[in-house]
Amino acid sequence: MQMVTSHNRLQPKTITPPSLQDIWIAKKRIASFIKTTPLVQSERLSSVSDTVAHLKLENLQETGSFKLRGAANKILSLSEEERKKGVTTFSTGNHGLAVAYVARQLGVKAHICISNRVPINKVKKLSEMGAEVRQAGQNQDDAEAFSYHLRDREGMTVIKPFDDPEVIAGQGTIALELLEELPNLDTCVIPLSGGGLLSGIALGLKATNPSIQVIGVSMKRAAVMYESIRANRPVIIPEETTLADSLLGGIGTDNRYTFTMVKNYVDDIVLLSEEEIARGMSFLFRHHQIGVEGAAGTAVSVLLHKKSRKIGLRTAAVVSGSNVDVDRILEIISAHKGDEDGC
Ligand SMILES: *Cc1c(COP(=O)(O)O)cnc(C)c1O
Repeated sequence: MQMVTSHNRLQPKTITPPSLQDIWIAKKRIASFIKTTPLVQSERLSSVSDTVAHLKLENLQETGSFKLRGAANKILSLSEEERKKGVTTFSTGNHGLAVAYVARQLGVKAHICISNRVPINKVKKLSEMGAEVRQAGQNQDDAEAFSYHLRDREGMTVIKPFDDPEVIAGQGTIALELLEELPNLDTCVIPLSGGGLLSGIALGLKATNPSIQVIGVSMKRAAVMYESIRANRPVIIPEETTLADSLLGGIGTDNRYTFTMVKNYVDDIVLLSEEEIARGMSFLFRHHQIGVEGAAGTAVSVLLHKKSRKIGLRTAAVVSGSNVDVDRILEIISAHKGDEDGC
């Protein structure tokens, strides 16, 4: 692997990737903050996909996504002194909500840095969660830089959305729940953006049973991790609008953990069209009465359209989050009436 040059925003330290033991530690640490989410077998999905298909419903997690697991594990791992100085992050999406939620539960101050372009409804949602929203600059990079400025000036800890061992181990707790309920699981389909979710789950599953196949799924529009693995180094691709907006964003040119972990663990990566993402969402709504965001419909869509040769006999699809406007879901559902393939 080509070495990635370290960015000066990061303090030099040795890189030790998380282990299965770290996931067990995380499980214990975050137990009172998270739900053990249901794993439901979908007869309908099984019948169209030639696998016994199960849905891991992380959309039911508090704050609406699995991001709570990683955020909780990271913040709970901080020392008393670090907690006193507060935490900061630069995500307006599910990660920002999760950080705000955990920080409030623990009485830790949280400053969420966003650009001036972020819509007012998102700012409101974060404020309602008890976080202080700090607007800085015109884009996501400016917001991120401001977060690091808060670290340098006020000693706050930056809670990264995916490239952090504690965050990865937190997301990995999903693997322990999957294996507990379905010990003979042989395939797991996982939405893939920065790769914290996939790295954590794949670590947990493969450390237990290396033959379990891990399939990542991204949108065709700006699939940064997919292109990075192809190029064998983190690449930058301009963002495009997509239904799976929670999968947008880069992996960081200074990526330390998830790029290597995804590269080592993933058995296949599927890229979906906007139409296919919409069908995944539509399927969950029509057959399970579950409203999810685009990112969370992707794993289901992989099974629905039999998109990978790696799909085995017993499969879990991770339904990752639910943060979407109800009107938006209804729009998408009604545009997918009576599709001939039953979705
Ligand atoms: C963050 C997120 C993902 C992707 O997780 P990564 O760790 O960045 O790969 C998938 N689905 C939802 C709903 C998310 O919020």
